[in-house]
Amino acid sequence: MLEKKNFYINGKWIAPKNQKQIEVIDPATEKSCAVISLGDKEDVHSAVIAAKNAFNSWGFSSKEERIKLLEKLYEIYKKRWNDISDAITLEMGAPKDFSSKLQTGTGASHIKSFIKYLKKFEFEKPLGEHAPNQRILYEPKGVCALITPWNWPMNQVCLKVIPAISAGCTMILKPSELAPLSSMILAEMIDEAKFPPGVFNLVNGDGAITGDALTSHPDVNMISFTGSTRAGALISKNAAKDFKRVSLELGGKGANIIFKDADPEAIERGALRCFRNSGQSCNAPTRMLVEKSMYKEAVERLKKYANEFKVDDPNKEGDHIGPVISEAQFNKIQNLIQKGIDEGAKLVAGGPGKPNGLEKGYYIKPTVFADVKNEMEIAKTEIFGPVLSVMPFESEEEAISIANDTPYGLTNYIQTQDPEKVKRVARKLRSGMVDVNGAGIAVDAPFGGYKHSGIGREAGQEGLTEFLEVKSVGGWN
Ligand code: NAD
Repeated sequence: MLEKKNFYINGKWIAPKNQKQIEVIDPATEKSCAVISLGDKEDVHSAVIAAKNAFNSWGFSSKEERIKLLEKLYEIYKKRWNDISDAITLEMGAPKDFSSKLQTGTGASHIKSFIKYLKKFEFEKPLGEHAPNQRILYEPKGVCALITPWNWPMNQVCLKVIPAISAGCTMILKPSELAPLSSMILAEMIDEAKFPPGVFNLVNGDGAITGDALTSHPDVNMISFTGSTRAGALISKNAAKDFKRVSLELGGKGANIIFKDADPEAIERGALRCFRNSGQSCNAPTRMLVEKSMYKEAVERLKKYANEFKVDDPNKEGDHIGPVISEAQFNKIQNLIQKGIDEGAKLVAGGPGKPNGLEKGYYIKPTVFADVKNEMEIAKTEIFGPVLSVMPFESEEEAISIANDTPYGLTNYIQTQDPEKVKRVARKLRSGMVDVNGAGIAVDAPFGGYKHSGIGREAGQEGLTEFLEVKSVGGWN
């Protein structure tokens, strides 16, 4: 079992103030794979003070210095690719190929992309030709608390740590206590790249104690959080007391609107996007809306697809899905599947219990419900498992209305060969992202949601400016 009890504070790995620890569980075996410490108020305070002190110089560091260190970090990241990928497989059960290509791959893409945006970003510029003496300065927000979940651990951490560094902020990262191991490798890489002490700090711990201590600390200027809508609301309350800047990336319940003129792969592609990463993606298209004239055929195809969809050990090579993260999550998903049956949705594939031959580990059968009503629990709640809800629609207006009838607004999907319909529908969907015909959202496109899916945007230029305050100076000669 890995011993990972220390925190990274002020450029050193140090022992926590108290000895409260928890075990990290490998979801494929249900056995402990590592032990970490849970930070308390004192640990958080030490990290915040280190970040506050470091900000005095890092906040005024040159763009060139930041680029040089980030480029060094990128080289080290590539060298440690397999370590990162193995840690993600161990801590959250992503199968090794998926872990390497997508989980580890997206982290690398974000580092590369932020370096590109940093190179061309102007931190000081005139308001315009009409007002050359009016200067606009973009300045780092200060000490940032970065709190991340377990489902795309390195992707989410890089979407915060790299733009925060690029902006000149200093930070305390608290990764998910369920999947902290890949983040600890990031801390090792930052150490190896020789960032000045205190710029980046890592404290492990839970939400109730460590997260709360971080988000209520008076010397934290900004909170960037990815996780559940429930925790996002609690964090916002803490932040309101002293007007901390808050950026929130929360849950989703994406609709995938399949019109009858969709391309031939649209149905199976939609199911794959729902099941991928064992359904543990905030932007998963979990509600499939199918035009009535092809509904019956779609349900038949989904039945076949889900029944043949592979679930297996994450340590094996291949394009299967692995387990879900934890026993609590497994039980929550099982209860929701049962709720779908009780509420009268038609179970087409999958259902309660574990897939054959996978009795140990938190494995879920890829599940499809047809004839779902948007008022049912399975259509309203973010299940965060490989469970697809399918429902018919008759008109474009009805599809838009069902898609928007949710408190969430992260990603919606459209499948049609009619470009005018794409534009009409995309404009009416109340979500931060719309993915058309499987095109995907670019790595540097703004990522974030409307409504209960969050506040602010990550990735690319928008992701960088989240970490910047804007200052207007008049009379700059
Ligand atoms: P979670 O909210 O339980 O935990 C996320 C992080 O917040 C963890 O580090 C946790 O320790 C911490 N936390 C929990 N309560 C806290 C509190 N009161 N104060 C401070 N910190 C607290 O979420 P999770 O179960 O780890 O992740 C799944 C959720 O994340 C899903 O709802 C998913 O949709 C969402 N998510 C959103 C995006 C996005 O970009 N919109 C991306 C990935 C995941």
